[in-house]
Amino acid sequence: MSLFVQKFGGTSVGSFERIEAVADRIARSARAGHQLVVVLSAMAGETNRLLSLAKQVSATPCPRELDMLVSTGEQISIALMAMALQKRGLKAQSLLGEQVGILTDERHGRARIREVETERLKSMLADGIIPIVAGFQGRCGNNQVTTLGRGGSDTTAVAIAAALRADECQIFTDVDGVYTTDPRVEPKARKMKTITFEEMLELSSLGAKVLQIRSVEYAGRYNVPLRVLSSFRDGEGTLITYEEDAMDAPVVSGIAFSRDEASLTLVGVPDAANVAATILTPIGDAGIDVDMIVQTATGDGKADFTFTVARNDLDQARALLSPVLPQLGVATIRSDDTLCKVSVVGVGMKNHSGVASQMFQTLGQEGISISLIATSEIKISVAIDEKYLELAVRSLHQSFNLDEGE
Ligand code: ADP
Ligand code: ASP
Ligand code: MG
Repeated sequence: MSLFVQKFGGTSVGSFERIEAVADRIARSARAGHQLVVVLSAMAGETNRLLSLAKQVSATPCPRELDMLVSTGEQISIALMAMALQKRGLKAQSLLGEQVGILTDERHGRARIREVETERLKSMLADGIIPIVAGFQGRCGNNQVTTLGRGGSDTTAVAIAAALRADECQIFTDVDGVYTTDPRVEPKARKMKTITFEEMLELSSLGAKVLQIRSVEYAGRYNVPLRVLSSFRDGEGTLITYEEDAMDAPVVSGIAFSRDEASLTLVGVPDAANVAATILTPIGDAGIDVDMIVQTATGDGKADFTFTVARNDLDQARALLSPVLPQLGVATIRSDDTLCKVSVVGVGMKNHSGVASQMFQTLGQEGISISLIATSEIKISVAIDEKYLELAVRSLHQSFNLDEGE
């Protein structure tokens, strides 16, 4: 008998038909003799609907109340699923994050899981009851409801799997595994049987939302066996593996992208040592993530300093910089909110050179100019005009021999 944590995302429980279909799938696994803990997202579109309700009341809703609101989406789907399973003669019971004991830090809207209490889950399993747990939510130290950031149900599932030492954490979604790139952008994308943990971490952090980045980090920390599969069709899905063989690995395994980029350029900053810190400290203190950074000397002891942030953070970042501009003698600050980021990822890059030049040549042949570049041992990212995103992804996919059938 195996213990599986099975998570079903928004599209997978997005209608009554889908809830019934998923209930059939869960019933099959249970009747095959497996112990199951089920984690659900809100029905597709529900979290966005709740966020828009809040916006209609307040432009700057209180984070505590926002969590109170958006966490309700999952409460609906878990109750409906428990009913659907009970109708099939199974013992199932829905649980909110706080009823399980999913304990988080206090950062509303992007809380991190600190601990998962296992007592209640274990006693339900011992009684033959399938716990149906609300994803994306927890409780923080001062007894408030918190949420884990968009896509956070993946992390709920992995954290429960780690705490219960489950045999596998199975993330059921609307694609049948992890592909070489988002199959919605490149129909020739290929499904991978396995992907290394390290590559999955990069793909998720660079925009592939098939797994929330924190769920991959969490799985790595506790060595959770993690698999992505379709809730629509049977299949093996994609297993995330922890052993890597960079020698045999393809140079590029996948391409990720993010549409959500923006850049800020401070024109004519002094070309001096502490400038980067002066600019980036207020941004970092406000919890805004800075991604790519470039400083270009323009002669006469001056430089242009450019960095990228998530598009949502652009206005706040700009506002945070106004007080430091006089100190730096900067008169002009330019912003660009039409950028996207495209990245190639592969552990095989560790043993190969020439990936960057192939990437730049491929983009150059398509007439796509590159605004910024960032690299690590196993990835190269470029920021480009967002109107070229699809073209860039497809031409790179072909250039690195990732197309289906090659
Ligand atoms: P869920 O609602 O089940 O959590 P998500 O929408 O969060 O599902 O994630 C699944 C989506 O991730 C797919 O529909 C696909 O468009 C997207 N995606 C992005 N990159 C990849 C990739 N490399 N492989 C598979 N899917 C990807
Ligand atoms: N319902 C939340 C969201 O839409 C969490 C999740 O689906 O994982 O982001
Ligand atoms: Mg998701």
